[in-house]
This record gives sequence, C-alpha cells and structure tokens, in this order.
Amino acid sequence: MRILGIETSFDDTGVAIYDNKLGLLVNELRHQNNIHSKYGGVVPELASRAYINQVAPLIKEIIIKNNISLNSLNGIAYTAGPGLVGSLLVGAGVGCALAYACNIPSIPINHMEGHLLSPMIENPNLKFPFLGLLISGKHTQLINAYQLSEYQILGETLDDAAGEVLDKIAQALNLGYPGGYLLSQFANKGKLGRFYFPKPMKYYSNFNFSFSGLKTFTLNLIKKHMYNIQALHDIACEFEYSILDVLVYKSFKALKKTGYDQLVIAGGVSANKKLINLFKKYALIHNKKLYFCSPIFCTDNAAMIAYLGMIYLKRGISKKIDISIYPKWSILNIKQKNHYL
Ligand code: ATP
Ligand code: FE
Repeated sequence: MRILGIETSFDDTGVAIYDNKLGLLVNELRHQNNIHSKYGGVVPELASRAYINQVAPLIKEIIIKNNISLNSLNGIAYTAGPGLVGSLLVGAGVGCALAYACNIPSIPINHMEGHLLSPMIENPNLKFPFLGLLISGKHTQLINAYQLSEYQILGETLDDAAGEVLDKIAQALNLGYPGGYLLSQFANKGKLGRFYFPKPMKYYSNFNFSFSGLKTFTLNLIKKHMYNIQALHDIACEFEYSILDVLVYKSFKALKKTGYDQLVIAGGVSANKKLINLFKKYALIHNKKLYFCSPIFCTDNAAMIAYLGMIYLKRGISKKIDISIYPKWSILNIKQKNHYL
C-alpha cells in the first residue's frame, strides 16, 4: 500500500510518499520563509498564493525524480485542518483532484493528530495508549491518547503556545523567523542565575499552561537591557529554561496521574535539543519510555500526513469525494469530522 501525503496547513509545502512495506520513500519540503520573514509572521493571503505555485509542481517533480508511477498509489492524504483557510484549500483541492483522476481515495488528515503520531514513523514499538505533549507553533497540549482518533485534552495553554512565544522573543531579539531554533542557539551563550524568571502555572493542580505573562516579562527585560549583549544572552537562556522547566514538570505530573509508561513529545518545539535532553533525564529518573522524532518530522512535514493516511486507509474508507476543510479542527473531533471512518 502506497500513500501520497500533502501538507499545506500554514506556510510550508510538504509532499511525501509512504509505502507500508518499504517505509518513507520521499519526503520533500519547500519553505516560504523568504516571502514572510520581512513581515515577522505568516501573511495568509501570500501563503495561499505561494501554495498555488508550489503544490502541484512539487508533486510532479518528486514523482518524476523518484520514478514513481501514479498507478502505484493507493490513496492521497492531505491536511484538512486545523490551519489557514486559503492554505488548506489548495492542498485539499490538489489532493482530491489527483485522487479523483487516479480513481483512488482521498483521505482528510488532522494536522495535530499527524504531529502527535509522527514519532511512530521512526518508532514502530510505540503503541496506544500513551500521554502526548503537543508543542508546536499554535498548540501546547497534554493529551491522553487512548487510540487512533480518540483523544482527551488533559490541559492546554490558556493563551499563547510555547512555539509562538519562542518566535515572539526571537523576533524582539532580531534573530529572524521562525525563531525557536535561532533563540535556542542565542540562549546557548547565556547563563542561568543572573535574572529571576517566573515559571507560570508550574505548581497549579491542573495541567494547563500560560506563556503570555512570561512573554511580556521577557519583552520588558529585553527593552531594559537592549544594549548589553551578554545580558540578552542570559535573558534568552532563562526564558527558554522557564518554558522547558514548566513543560517537563507538568508532563511528568500528568504521567503520574494517568499511570502511563509512555510519553510522546511532538510538534516543532520538540526539535529543541535542550528540551529532549531534559525530558530524557526525567524519563530515566521516573523509569518512563520517551518517544520523539528526528527534527525533520517535528516541524510541519508531509511524511506524518502520508503515514497517518496509510493507517486510516488500512482501516477502510470510502471513495466519496469531499473537499471539505476544517480550519479549527480540534483533535477532540476527529471522528465527527472524518466521516470516512
Ligand atoms: P501547529 O502545528 O500548532 O498548527 P505550526 O505548524 O506552525 O503550528 P510546527 O511547525 O509544529 O507549528 O512548529 C513550529 C514551531 O516550532 C515554531 O514556533 C518554531 O519556532 C518551533 N521550533 C522549531 N524548531 C525549534 C527548536 N529547535 N527549538 C525550539 N522551537 C523550535
Ligand atoms: Fe504544525
């Protein structure tokens, strides 16, 4: 069984092919960073226009380059939400049109379920149920993952997502966009201990997060020390550590509550090496199994969409054509929206 996956939820164009016997055959990504960087964030109108120019040509390119016959495909999986309306529509339109032309099923995929299950691509031992920490550009959620398409949100951010504040602080430090990786590099030259930083909601009895106050606190401190480069490195270091500290503390508290042995961390922020090392340390102390992905599968990619498409296709879906997209599709409503299941 072979699935073509298309990812167009926000600003990256991903196309991948997953074969259930051979594994991941192709995984290509085209960024739009040069289009959006001068605005300090993604401009939806520009993103959807860029997708129109990128998606179909990229599919054609990888099919020719890798000598893959369209006849060998059994289904086309595409991101149907959550994401930007215009971005999602391009991927869904191209995916469904190609599926119709090839007379194969099109499979709408929830982007967040794609992120959450992406560690399965490299870790076949990972099985449901498990605790998931989804840390991406727009989500920070602790998830009780019962089984495919059945999830409970134990806690989530009440305001900004972890990735979002990393990007905002990186922008304030003029490091560039997207900023998570760049901020982490900048923070490597700093030391802990010079400033006192809050650890928002760390000791609350619930599993929610809040990063907006920490962001404002950090922005004010940056303004105060704008011309002292070492102070800025130290601020970045404390800021990054505050986020990681709260994430790891609450994740292991949630593991204790759920009684699970397995913790999955997924989403763009899980590409952070310091975060991985901290979680590894806790996992060792608490005797838990930790699952995460290589950096290319942490941030947006089509491999996770193709992989999940394969899992859903194996379950059996109809060939009905439906180009619906769900810009606010929650991971809680996968069954309701995905009427193929
Ligand atoms: P969502 O998946 O919630 O819809 P998104 O698709 O924009 O949002 P992702 O692509 O999963 O988010 O992740 C992007 C985020 O990951 C950005 O905020 C980026 O700064 C952050 N990020 C990427 N690499 C790293 C890193 N090495 N360290 C910390 N953060 C990182
Ligand atoms: Fe994402």
